[in-house]
This record gives sequence, C-alpha cells and structure tokens, in this order.
Amino acid sequence: MPYIEDESKVKRPTDFTKLEDGDVIILQSKVYSIPTHFLATEKRSVYCIGDGCYFCGKDMKARDEYFYYGLVNGEKGIMRVPATVLYSIAGQEKLIKKNPKTKDLDKRDFEWIIGKTGSGLDTEYTVMKNDKITRISDDQMEKNKTVLITILTKYENMLKEKAMEIVAQDKEVE
Ligand SMILES: [Zn+2]
Repeated sequence: MPYIEDESKVKRPTDFTKLEDGDVIILQSKVYSIPTHFLATEKRSVYCIGDGCYFCGKDMKARDEYFYYGLVNGEKGIMRVPATVLYSIAGQEKLIKKNPKTKDLDKRDFEWIIGKTGSGLDTEYTVMKNDKITRISDDQMEKNKTVLITILTKYENMLKEKAMEIVAQDKEVE
C-alpha cells in the first residue's frame, strides 16, 4: 500500500465518476481494465477470473470495465469509461498520429467532450476531440498510476469477494 500524500484523492472504491452528456474530460493516466460479468438478477458486476471461471462456465459473457485517472469538468478523480468511448478516442488518436503536425501527440494532449443519448441498454456515447492542452508531467503520470492501481485493486478485490459469495450461494442451492 503506497503512502498517498494527497488524501483527498482517495475515494471509496465504488466512487467512480460516470460520464454524462456534455462532460469535458482530460485523461491523466493509462487505462486500467477489469474483466467482469454483469449479473442481471443481482444488478451488479462480479470479477471474471478467466480460466475456470464459474460464470464463464455458465455461458455468461465477460466484458471489460475501463477506468482512467483524470479530470471530469475540471475535477480530479477516477472515471469509468464506457468501451465505446475508449474505442472512439483510440480511433481519433490514430488520426492524430497520422497527421504530420500532430504525430507526436496522443489522447492525453487533448480535451475530449462526451455526448450521451438514451439510457439503460440504449445508451449511446459520442466523443469529440476538443482543445489541445498542456499535458501533465511524467512524474505526475506515475503518481496518478499509483492512485489508480491502489483504488482499483481494492475494487477488484471487492468484485472477487462478491463472485465467491455468489458461487458459494449457488452451490448451496444446487
Ligand atoms: Zn468469467
């Protein structure tokens, strides 16, 4: 467990910012991905351990949840990034790198504006590249990485515990 100087950065593991329509985001870390299964009956996610996973064994599809450290409307924290947003930013980053004028830049050198329509399963996201910004230092990137890993490791452990609880309950019923 690293020593964290700025305690205001430590949030409860489930306090991740959800992206809403019109949000302006700045990514200040690399992505952290967690494989999960969404259990509709429990309305919650559990961890997917991959080989030998109980839920995979029941033919349930696993999905990855993505997280970044960064700014959402100027506020620091960990944001949960929908897969479609991640792919859209990656696609636009490819174009940034193709352009000779911006080939040395990446997704962390720009602000991104989130568009969101619909709700529930019909939610759709769009992402628009906005202003070029001054990116954070490599040193700050390392600090953010530490915060991201610390908090998401706790979240992962919670998802693993929940998975084990549900497996134990199911086995009792069987
Ligand atoms: Zn699984």
